[in-house]
Amino acid sequence: MIRMTPTQSIRNAPVTGMSAKLADHPVSPGGAPRAESEPAFAVEVKGLTKVYGGQGGERLALDRVDLEIPRGSLFALLGPNGAGKSTLINILAGLVLKTAGTARVWGIDIDRDPRGARAAIGVVPQELNIDPFFTPRALLEIQAGMYGVPKAERRTAEILAALGLADQADVYPRRLSGGMRRRLLVAKAMVHDPPVLVLDEPTAGVDIELRQQLWAYVRRLNRNGTTVLLTTHYLEEAEQICDRIAIIDRGRVLCCEDKTALLQRIDAKELTVRLAADAAAVPGALMRFGAALKGPRTLTVHYRPSAAPMAEILAAIQASGLPVADVTTTESDLEDIFLQLTRAARREAGAP
Ligand code: ADP
Ligand code: MG
Repeated sequence: MIRMTPTQSIRNAPVTGMSAKLADHPVSPGGAPRAESEPAFAVEVKGLTKVYGGQGGERLALDRVDLEIPRGSLFALLGPNGAGKSTLINILAGLVLKTAGTARVWGIDIDRDPRGARAAIGVVPQELNIDPFFTPRALLEIQAGMYGVPKAERRTAEILAALGLADQADVYPRRLSGGMRRRLLVAKAMVHDPPVLVLDEPTAGVDIELRQQLWAYVRRLNRNGTTVLLTTHYLEEAEQICDRIAIIDRGRVLCCEDKTALLQRIDAKELTVRLAADAAAVPGALMRFGAALKGPRTLTVHYRPSAAPMAEILAAIQASGLPVADVTTTESDLEDIFLQLTRAARREAGAP
């Protein structure tokens, strides 16, 4: 009889380099068959409100948040510190009690079936809190036990290998680097094979190389069907990794849409033309594009890509006979959109 072990299913796995290992190791989470009727939304939140009580008075951390995270998406919850990201996640994970509203994880209402909802989600917490008395292998076994994963179905070695921790399986946490601890927490979150994986500020304090490895793994999980929700206050991160983004500030969701749609929202680009000789005035043909001289040799054109195609502008510049030395364009990025939205929301609220 031929016995198949998980490692035999590794395809195209180069033997060198940690990132290659992380990226190419097959990940079964998400690849396993899910319930026959999968929900359209991996997470569905309506009117979610959280008021923390305390000595310093009450604090509104979430203010009637509505949010839908489509199944299969790689979703970013983007917002500054204190926006309410961790609160939202911790409510979904059953770690914080909500004040009002409803929340469903994988179609399961957290009030009606808290255990079921918890089983559908794996959370990698913001804090690197790891029990120092257990090795990674022991930690995953305990976690599996807590989730009631039968011994025969546990994939401890496979998960450790997928996260590049096979060599550290029996090492005590104090010997693990920060990056290894972060990966161990990811491993811990995947033990019960949840269809929804949440990473709360996963790259805080993580070096660039590890960040790449982590993203490679997360992308792979996502390709295999796991819905990924990550919180971040790095715009770049959301822009690079995610396909859908919600912006949250002061407990309120300011927008939630596909990344490309969001980026197109600011339909504005700037074109800068460096001239090889001084120009005295803006050529008439360029006036209709709102061209302006920023200096004798610098001409800028602000345009809406949807209204004036780049080719048309370039043709007009060429026809004008200007001695062009160089042309550069700047796109609006998420940072612009983010600042616009948060400023507008704060103005509306009469806040500083
Ligand atoms: P984020 O994760 O986006 O940085 P948090 O959800 O941690 O934001 O916090 C949102 C708001 O709630 C902040 O104003 C924070 O100070 C407050 N807050 C968070 N946790 C608690 C708590 N346990 N008790 C009181 N206030 C809290
Ligand atoms: Mg947080």
